[in-house]
Amino acid sequence: MKDNEPIKTLSTERKPRSGSPGRQREIDTCTGAAGKISLDIAVLPGDGIGPEVIGATLAVLKKLEERWTKVCFAFREHAVGTAEYLRYGDPLSEEAFAACRQADAVLLGAMGLPSVRWPDGRELSPQLDLRERLDLYAGLRPIRLYHAQDTPLKRYGAGEIDLVIVRENCEGLFSARLSKSDPASGEVRDLLRITRRGAERVFRAAFELAGRRRKKCTLVDKANVLPSMVFFRSVFDDVAREYPEVEASRVYVDAMALYLLQKPHEFDVLVTENMFGDILSDLAAGLVGGMGMAPSADIGDDCAVFQPSHGTAPDIAGKGIANPIAAILSAAMMLEWLGHPELLDGATRIRHAVETVLSDPANRTPDTGGRLATQQMTEKIMECL
Ligand code: ATP
Repeated sequence: MKDNEPIKTLSTERKPRSGSPGRQREIDTCTGAAGKISLDIAVLPGDGIGPEVIGATLAVLKKLEERWTKVCFAFREHAVGTAEYLRYGDPLSEEAFAACRQADAVLLGAMGLPSVRWPDGRELSPQLDLRERLDLYAGLRPIRLYHAQDTPLKRYGAGEIDLVIVRENCEGLFSARLSKSDPASGEVRDLLRITRRGAERVFRAAFELAGRRRKKCTLVDKANVLPSMVFFRSVFDDVAREYPEVEASRVYVDAMALYLLQKPHEFDVLVTENMFGDILSDLAAGLVGGMGMAPSADIGDDCAVFQPSHGTAPDIAGKGIANPIAAILSAAMMLEWLGHPELLDGATRIRHAVETVLSDPANRTPDTGGRLATQQMTEKIMECL
């Protein structure tokens, strides 16, 4: 994606806002906001490094906000995640959920810890509940290389890996995740669910996005083996006919794992099933410096959640060394989605600031071979806004 090209919105329609504040902490309101449009941002720091990277992101957004004359943010923080589960039995309270539904956008850190599980052994994953309940069907995961030193691949420089994975978020193999199973029976099944409606809407989102980029949209499937994927591909072919200006192609997921290592420059927008998208987006993040560099946005027709692609990284939580770039770039996606001209300018400033900071190989957090702390990296980005 070009630096200043918005990822753009599947829908820019604002919902009417009403709402009880619920169990929340007002961390910033639009003070001195006469005449400004106030945007309500639900902030969910969550677990592990979530609060660290969200703290960095809010600092960047507040710095940008100083420049704006027409819009401002009302940030409202909600407690979610494992601490809430351990205290109240629910990692995502109905109050927090309602606030997310009513907000103009949701900024999320990360949730879940390997040490805290449901009685059946699964990790808590309230971020998946949020996606499904808000019907955030398009998971956009941009993968962009900012500097040659951040990729393990030879011969790739800044901007030469630049693709977006569009992950179907609401069905696929994840649709079975809440089903009951009986391991004692000697057999457990997971259902891979594809519906025409679910496939059509995510394919349209992918083609729309490709139309604003390099006009190439690749389906990643397993249509050589699974009947669900044969159906998925047939829907893709139908939708592709609506977008003759976009070049459509199809690649099996195993081959795509190979091609992402061999020739990532050939791809623009990849669209795929939920589980394949989950796996390939981690692989693709590894091409550009790892999880700390990979932003994401989960977009529906009415709501959107912006969060780094990474999880809670318990191995580094609390050390002050998390890379904030994935979260800060996710906030840039939020500004684009919200769509006001001042916010679009803010998104461009964030991207340029990240690019400028990363152009100096000394400016790295430990995950990418450097020595900067989260706060130092954040300050460097803020200086370049
Ligand atoms: P989930 O399944 O919840 O997505 P995960 O199991 O994929 O999480 P992550 O929490 O994303 O795991 O962490 C994977 C690895 O990447 C860990 O070694 C972690 O320290 C590292 N990592 C993830 N995010 C960051 C970050 N922002 N800064 C530095 N390192 C990170």
